Amino acid sequence: MNSNKPLKRVVIAGGGTAGWMAAAALARTFGDVIDLTLVESEMIGTVGVGEATIPPLIVYNRLLGINEADFMRSTQATFKLGIEFENWKVDGEKYFHSFGQTGRDHWSAGFQHFWLHGLTKGHTASYDDYCLELQAAYAEKFAHLPDDRLNYAYHLDSSLYAAFLRKMAEDNGARRVEGKIAEVELDGERGDIAALKLESGERLEGDFFVDCTGFRALLIEGALHVGFDDWTHWLPCDRAIAVQTASVRPPLPYTRAIAHDAGWQWRIPLQHRQGNGIVYCSRYLSEDEAAERLLSSVEGEQLTKPNFLRFTTGARRKQWHRNCVAVGLSSGFMEPLESTSIHLIQRAVLRLIRMLPGGAVSQRDIDEFNDQQLTDMVQIRDFLVLHYKATERGDSPFWRQCRDMEIPDTLRHKIELFRETGRVFRKNEELFVENSWIQVMLGQGIMPEAYHPIAAKLTDQELAGMLDGIRQSVTKTVESLPSHEAYVARFCGAK
Ligand code: FAD
Repeated sequence: MNSNKPLKRVVIAGGGTAGWMAAAALARTFGDVIDLTLVESEMIGTVGVGEATIPPLIVYNRLLGINEADFMRSTQATFKLGIEFENWKVDGEKYFHSFGQTGRDHWSAGFQHFWLHGLTKGHTASYDDYCLELQAAYAEKFAHLPDDRLNYAYHLDSSLYAAFLRKMAEDNGARRVEGKIAEVELDGERGDIAALKLESGERLEGDFFVDCTGFRALLIEGALHVGFDDWTHWLPCDRAIAVQTASVRPPLPYTRAIAHDAGWQWRIPLQHRQGNGIVYCSRYLSEDEAAERLLSSVEGEQLTKPNFLRFTTGARRKQWHRNCVAVGLSSGFMEPLESTSIHLIQRAVLRLIRMLPGGAVSQRDIDEFNDQQLTDMVQIRDFLVLHYKATERGDSPFWRQCRDMEIPDTLRHKIELFRETGRVFRKNEELFVENSWIQVMLGQGIMPEAYHPIAAKLTDQELAGMLDGIRQSVTKTVESLPSHEAYVARFCGAK
């Protein structure tokens, strides 16, 4: 990439959630200094799935100046307080990964150490009892609390979100071109991308290109051949089927992830419908069996035909190469177990904005961007692998493969450190905080053998005061909350 040439003409290829998230943010930030064009093909369409998010999306929306009630109305969103995992440790058991803080950390040690000490002193309450988000989720309650005391995300229709962002992007000067990209033209001398040639014959020249063409990865892979790291040996699921159904009950403020003998199923409640899907490993389950399993388990009238999807889990070796950055599915993919794809789009777009200050970009920026994006993906990958590796299930070849597989050293270290000492550390701005790891490790049956000695320094009375105080405060706050359904209706109804 020519580092001295100002980036004036930016072309986004693809208009799914990734394309329009990028367009809305770039148009808002640089709309007056760049010419922004997005090309998409209605004939090809979008992947058409993606409904569960994580809390940082709130920050993204705030940065874009989006009114939360408008956004929720436009995307049919509900609030999400976490994910319930059923049948992951063993068939018939469940646990919850909430977005909240459990208990209260002490400066010297996390709350889990005090909870573990409490167990030895006859305080039998579960770790879950000390988490506001988790208890609110199971009580099906929600409200915005002062100081963001209830941490949340959304369930939404990502196609509606893309449409919502499209309007913002166009209002801020982005130009949309309808058409199919037939060829990616390279600059013979430097090897950068020079233009996208459409089937209509139109040529879209650019100084910088954002590849949001989904799994096709037309620019970053098709033209620039950056290569792909395949992580299927750690995350063996490679197929999904999605279907939408009518709601049969008030929307839960959490996602359900229900394991089966060759993968898992999701249930995601929106205001107007429910999203359902099955993720599975094609080595152990045929497409027909998976479809039959999904369709026989959904509740409510089927609103769409099943959407069959194939994927390979892994990451592009370079997400930014020459004058092209891949955002969204073109940059890599991991199954939606912890709802991280839309978040990775958000991170890529915000990083891109940080590194495109006045136009001139150095190779160091590119290397830094690639390093940060890959670090995110590796950390998320490890977190997903944890759900599979730390299983006690041995009832099917799929689960035996997961249970017995070799895992990345980074993950092994994290698990063993927790098992031996009860400690978890968050490094390099890792997305999943300590409490996320603790909830999933405990939920999957990894119990620490020791805890920080500072916890034992509390007198029995101090310990009881601390533990009972937190639980009572959680219970009292949950009691004071309105039902999730009523709150969504009121919040979205308010203009
Ligand atoms: P796409 O939606 O595929 O968009 C690609 C765009 O490129 C389209 O506009 C298409 O028309 C265009 N295009 C392609 N080729 C051409 C061409 N030749 N010419 C012109 N235009 C072209 N994420 C979450 O955060 N939470 C979830 O719960 C979640 N669930 C998921 C479940 C499954 C089974 C899958 C597969 C993904 C899920 N995701 C989830 C991921 C999420 O759907 C995607 O990250 C998100 O929708 C972004 O997709 P995209 O924009 O990169 O690609």
